[in-house]
Amino acid sequence: MTEYEAVIGLEIHTQLKTKSKIFCGCSTEFGNNPNSNICPVCTGQPGALPVLNKEVVNLAIRCGLVLDCTINKKSVFARKNYFYPDLPKAYQISQFDLPVTQNGFVNVVLPDGTEKRIGITRAHLEEDAGKLVHQGAEGIEGATSSHVDLNRSSVPLLEIVSEPDIRSAEEARAYLEKIKSILQFADISEANMEEGQLRCDANVSIRPIGQKEFGVKAEIKNMNSFRAVEKAIKIEIDRQKQVLSSGKKVIQETRSYDEASGKTVSMRSKEESHDYRYFPEPDLLPLIIDDAWIAQIKKDLPELAEQRIARYQEAYGISAYDARVLTLDKAVSDFFDTTAKLYSGDKKTIVNWLTTDILGYLKNENLEIGQTKLTPQNLVEMLGLIDNKTISGKIAKDLIGKMIATGESAKKLVESTGMQQITDENEIQKIVQEVIDANPKQLEQYRSGKTALKGYFVGETMKRTKGKASPQVVNQLLDKLLG
Ligand code: ADP
Ligand code: ZN
Ligand code: MG
Repeated sequence: MTEYEAVIGLEIHTQLKTKSKIFCGCSTEFGNNPNSNICPVCTGQPGALPVLNKEVVNLAIRCGLVLDCTINKKSVFARKNYFYPDLPKAYQISQFDLPVTQNGFVNVVLPDGTEKRIGITRAHLEEDAGKLVHQGAEGIEGATSSHVDLNRSSVPLLEIVSEPDIRSAEEARAYLEKIKSILQFADISEANMEEGQLRCDANVSIRPIGQKEFGVKAEIKNMNSFRAVEKAIKIEIDRQKQVLSSGKKVIQETRSYDEASGKTVSMRSKEESHDYRYFPEPDLLPLIIDDAWIAQIKKDLPELAEQRIARYQEAYGISAYDARVLTLDKAVSDFFDTTAKLYSGDKKTIVNWLTTDILGYLKNENLEIGQTKLTPQNLVEMLGLIDNKTISGKIAKDLIGKMIATGESAKKLVESTGMQQITDENEIQKIVQEVIDANPKQLEQYRSGKTALKGYFVGETMKRTKGKASPQVVNQLLDKLLG
C-alpha cells in the first residue's frame, strides 16, 4: 500500500480591532440589532464612495511586523466580482496583485515539543460581507423567508495566507493557535472564533511520500473552533486516501465540514481567481506606506506573545512549556499577570492551578476565561486559604469549580459550606483514635513491622473527616498514636 503525506495551507480571515468599518464610519460592534450599523457606503448605494480607515492600515502594518513580513510601500485595492445576496455591490473590495504585506513566517511549537517554521505567503486587506438569516426552518432548505443583515458588511478583515508548509492536522491547529495568540497580543484582533473574528479555510492535499509535486487540493470551509479545524482536516486526509487507494482522483473543489456527521461534503467546484475578474478599485487610490509610518507602528508595539513567554521564564522560573500554555490565550495570560502581582507566594502555584484545574474546567465547559466569574482576587484569596491551612489542597480542587461557576469569594464559600480544614489537634486526635480502635487487625500488622499501613490509617481518617483534616496534623498524630 502506498504511504501518503498530507500537504496543508491555511487561509485565515481575521477581523481587525477597529471601532469603525474599513471604508465608512459605521460601527463594527457585534450583536447589535440587524441593519443598525449601516450607511450608503457599506450597503453599496450607487454613487457612495469608500474612504479608507487609517486605523485599518495601522493594524495591517502591525500584523506585517509581527509576522516578519515585508510591508509593501505601495499596495492596491481590487474588486473581486461575484454575486451573492449578502454582497449588495456584487463585488468585494480586496487586494490581489499587490497585498499590503507578504513573505513572512511564524515559528510554531508542535505537540511533540519541536519547533517548525511556517511560511506566510501574504496578508491582504479586504471587507467582510453581510450575513443571511434564514427563517422558518433550520438551514436554507425549507426556509420560508431569508433576510440580510448588513451590520457585518465592510467590517475590516486581514486574510493571512500560509505557504503549503503544514503536514498534519495537529500542525495546522498549532499554527492556527499561534496566529491567534500573535494577533491577540499585538492587539490586532480579538481573534475570537465563536464571534467569527477568526475564520479559517483549510487547503488539503495528499501525495505519496517521497513525491515532490503536490497533489490536487480540496478547500475545507465552515469550521468554527480549533477542535473542528483539526478534526475536519483529519477527516479530509482520510477521505482523500480512500479516493486515491480506490483508483479514483481527488478533484479540486470547495468542501464544507459538517460537525454533526463528522464529514466533509462537496459544496462547489473550485473557482479560479480569473473567474472573479479582479481589477484595480477605481474609487480608491493605491495605498502608500512610508518608512516613518512603519517606524511609528514599530515603536508603539505592545508586549508580544514571544516576549511574554520569555518574561514568564525569566521572572518567575516557569517552564517554556507552561509559559506557552499560559500565552495561548491573551485573556488567560492577562489573568495570570494580575494574579501574579497580587499573590506573594510562589508564582508556580498559580501556574499549576491555572493550567490544570482552571483551564481544564474551561475546556470541559467550552468557556473562555472572560465568560466566567472567576477573578484574580478570588483565586489569590483561595491560595491564601491553602497557605494558612484553612483548607487543604484537595478541598481547594472542589472549591475552584464552585468559585468559577458562582463567582463567590473563596472565604464565603468555605464558610457557607463548612469546608474549613480541621486543624484542631484534639478534634483530630479523637477521630484518629476512633480509626485505630476500629481497625485492630491493621494495627497489629502495623506494629509487627508493616509500617506502610500508615497510609491506610491516613486514608481512613481523611474519609471520616470528608477530607477536611489537616493531613500534616493527621500524620503527626498517627506517628504518636500508632507507637
Ligand atoms: P487558489 O488559487 O486555489 O486559491 P492559492 O495558491 O492561492 O490557491 O493557495 C491557497 C492556499 O492553499 C494557500 O494557503 C496555499 O498554501 C495552499 N495550497 C496551495 N496548493 C496546495 C496544495 N497542493 N495542497 C495543499 N494546500 C495548497
Ligand atoms: Zn457604513
Ligand atoms: Mg487564492
